[in-house]
Amino acid sequence: MISVIAPVYNESANLEKVYGRLIDVLQKLNVGYEIVFVNDGSKDDSMAVIHRLAQKDASVKYVNFSRNFGHQIAVCAGLDFVKGDKVVIMDTDGQDPPEIIEKLYLKSLEGFEVVYARRIQRKGENVFKKLTARWFYRIMQRITHIDIPVDTGDFRIIDKKVVEQLRRMPERQKFLRGQISWIGFNQTSVEFEREARLGGKTGYSLGKMIRLALDGITGFSNFPLRLATLSGFVFALIGFGLILYTLYSRFARSDYEPGWASQMITIVFIGGIQLIGIGIIGEYISRISDNVRNRPLYIIRETNIH
Ligand code: UDP
Ligand code: MG
Repeated sequence: MISVIAPVYNESANLEKVYGRLIDVLQKLNVGYEIVFVNDGSKDDSMAVIHRLAQKDASVKYVNFSRNFGHQIAVCAGLDFVKGDKVVIMDTDGQDPPEIIEKLYLKSLEGFEVVYARRIQRKGENVFKKLTARWFYRIMQRITHIDIPVDTGDFRIIDKKVVEQLRRMPERQKFLRGQISWIGFNQTSVEFEREARLGGKTGYSLGKMIRLALDGITGFSNFPLRLATLSGFVFALIGFGLILYTLYSRFARSDYEPGWASQMITIVFIGGIQLIGIGIIGEYISRISDNVRNRPLYIIRETNIH
């Protein structure tokens, strides 16, 4: 049996089309299936559409959140509820073409617990998003110990074994593509062209993108902390050199500069560096306190999964 996890945030314009294409593909595969829509606090009538689909198709399951908890958490809720032996994670805006699921599934049958879809092209996305995404994945690859594949989102098929391990990971800052790499097993990719969004507009605001990036970095790398330490050493060394120079020019040469400008610059500059260092520590501490509070990850308003 294949389970499809489909997070939904304001997708009423796309749900029916994506559902139709999904059913076509799943029926072709000749396996049992379920589609788990996770409504992440949509403000449009997405939930009404899902209710309608669920009424006429018993394979349509849903989890309806009490508010918007974010895409990664929506997928995690799906992971908590799926029953399939293989699980597909895909967007519901048409950007992850359902037709690719066949490729993913066939590849997984060759003995891969994870087959992720690697985009060789992204249609209908602006230069800023493409560039930031490109750089983000490449920086991540340099500063983490795990191998997070470049140019992949969450579109992938994973085995039940992987789902069980994901359920055991308690962190609140979910960064699934990192977590799945960390888990291991046999992983491979198939290539696809990422489509433009069918209708509606992106639910990933700049703020959400930055948060996801920071969750990814802090969750899988201590490099920023080390960078703070390193820059501390560098500036301490420079400072020590300046002390020697100042003492020398004051007492040995006695023709020292008044030096207001250089002092101002140094104070402001060092102050900035220190604040950045504190900020980096703050990013980690705020995540620690989030985890210590240990609140439920999401709140469900209603579901038809029992
Ligand atoms: N999504 C979600 N919660 C959010 C934002 C997005 O569940 O807070 C869903 C959305 O419905 C879609 C997927 O996550 O299925 C990817 O979001 P989107 O297409 O808006 O992001 P983009 O493709 O622009 O990065
Ligand atoms: Mg999208």
